[in-house]
Amino acid sequence: MSKLSRFNHFQPWRDGYYIAYNAMSGAVALMTNENYEVYKKIPEILASNNQPDLSDEEKELFKQLEYGRFLCDDDLDEVEALQFRQNMDRYGQASMGLILAPTLACNMACEYCYEANKKGRLSSQLVEKIVEFVEERAPHLAGLDVSWYGGEPLLAMDIIDDLTATFLDLAEEYKFKYGSSMISNGYLMTPEVTDRLVKNQVKTIQLTLDGPGRIHNKKRPLKNGKPSFETILKNIQYAADKIGVGIRVNVDKSFTNDIIKELLQELIDAGVHDKVGVYFGQLEASTQVCSNISESCYETADFSKIEIDYYRLLLEYGFRIDRLPQPMSTFCMAQVISSFLIDPDGDLYKCFNHVGDKDKIVGNIGAEINYQNPNFKHLFNFSPFQDETCSSCNFLPICMGGCPSRRADRGLTGEQLCDSWRHNLEPMLEIIALSRQQEMQRQKEAAVAAKE
Ligand code: SF4
Ligand code: SF4
Repeated sequence: MSKLSRFNHFQPWRDGYYIAYNAMSGAVALMTNENYEVYKKIPEILASNNQPDLSDEEKELFKQLEYGRFLCDDDLDEVEALQFRQNMDRYGQASMGLILAPTLACNMACEYCYEANKKGRLSSQLVEKIVEFVEERAPHLAGLDVSWYGGEPLLAMDIIDDLTATFLDLAEEYKFKYGSSMISNGYLMTPEVTDRLVKNQVKTIQLTLDGPGRIHNKKRPLKNGKPSFETILKNIQYAADKIGVGIRVNVDKSFTNDIIKELLQELIDAGVHDKVGVYFGQLEASTQVCSNISESCYETADFSKIEIDYYRLLLEYGFRIDRLPQPMSTFCMAQVISSFLIDPDGDLYKCFNHVGDKDKIVGNIGAEINYQNPNFKHLFNFSPFQDETCSSCNFLPICMGGCPSRRADRGLTGEQLCDSWRHNLEPMLEIIALSRQQEMQRQKEAAVAAKE
C-alpha cells in the first residue's frame, strides 16, 4: 500500500502543465493538468483500493510518482527516515570537511566585512599540525573536502600549494576522494594563479560582485581605496573557462532591478554570462562588528520576494540558473561532527561568522577535540526534529531548520529562521524549469550550428 509523500510541491506551468517537486528526493517532473487531477484523487483511489480499475496511462503515472518518491510506502515515516539520514551524516566520520583560512589578512576593505581587519597567517608549525590532523584520520576517510577561505586565501597561495600537495599524496595513499573549492574576492586570481588553482584541484570558486562596477567599487574597494571590479572581471574572463565560477551578489535594500540589469549587462559585455553562475546572497548583520549595516538588510521573507525578481532578470538576460532546492541532511558544517573551520592560529570553529572571535573557538588543531566544549555544542546540538514547527514542515528536507547561528547567536525565531525556499519555492521552480528549457534550446541550436 502507498501514500502521498508529505514533501510534494506543485506549481502551475504554462500550456497545461504542473511542475512537481519532491523535497525529500529532489525529483522534479512535469505533469499534465489531467494527471494533476488524477494525483489529487490518489488518496481516494488508495483508500477505496480500486487501483486495478486504473487506465494504463494512470498506472504509468503511479509508476512515475513512485519512482520520484512522490508516492511512498504507507508504513514509511518520512520524518524518521530524514532524521536517520541526518544522523548518518551528522555523526559519520568517513567524510571530513575542512574550511581552511591560511590567512585572515585581506587586500580589500568591504563596508560590511565582519572580519574587521584581522591579520595572521598559518605558520609552518601549524601547517604541519593540520597535516597531522588529516594524517591521523586518513586511514578511515572516504572523502576529504577542503574549502579555502580567509581573509583572502589567495594572499597565502604558497600555503595552499603545500597543503594541497600533501592532501593529494594522502588521498592517493589511503584511497579517499579529494575535493576542493575556494571563497575569494577574486582580485588576485590572475591567469597564472588560476592555473595554480587548477593544478591544486580547486573545482569551484565563489567570488563576490556587489553590483555593477560603479557600485561594487564603492562597496568593495581595495584597502588603498582603489577600485577592484575591472580586475576581478578580467580575472573571471580567464578563470571561467578553467574552473566553476560562482558569482555571489550580496543584496541589501539599496539594490534595484536596474542595478542588477546593469551588472548583468556588464557580465554579458565581458563575454562570461554563459560560463558563470550568478546567485544572490542576503546580506545580514550577523555579528556586532557589522551591526552598522543592519538597517539596510532585508528580512528573509522580503529578500525571498526580490530574489525572485532578480532570478527572472537572470533568465531574461540568458544566464543559466544554478540555484536548485537540494535535499540536505544538515544546514551546514556547524551540525556535522567531522567538519571544522581552522584559522591561522590553528583554532577551530563551527561557523563562518565566528572566525577570529576567540570567545567562539571550539578547540585547537594541536589538541584532542572535546565534543563537550560549550562552544561546540552551542551550534551543534540543535535538532530540527526537536522543534515542533520544523518537524511538521514540508520544506524540512531542503532547510533542516535553517542556519543554526541565526537561532543560537541572534535569537531569531519563527519565520525569521526559515530559508528563502519556504517563501519562494513554487515561483523559483517555474524559473528553474524555464532556465532548463532555455539551456536545452541553446544546446539544440549549438548542435545544429556544429552540423552546418
Ligand atoms: S551556522 Fe549559519 S552562518 Fe554559521 S556556518 Fe552555518 S549557515 Fe553559516
Ligand atoms: S526553519 Fe522554517 S522552513 Fe526551515 S524547517 Fe523550520 S519551519 Fe521549515
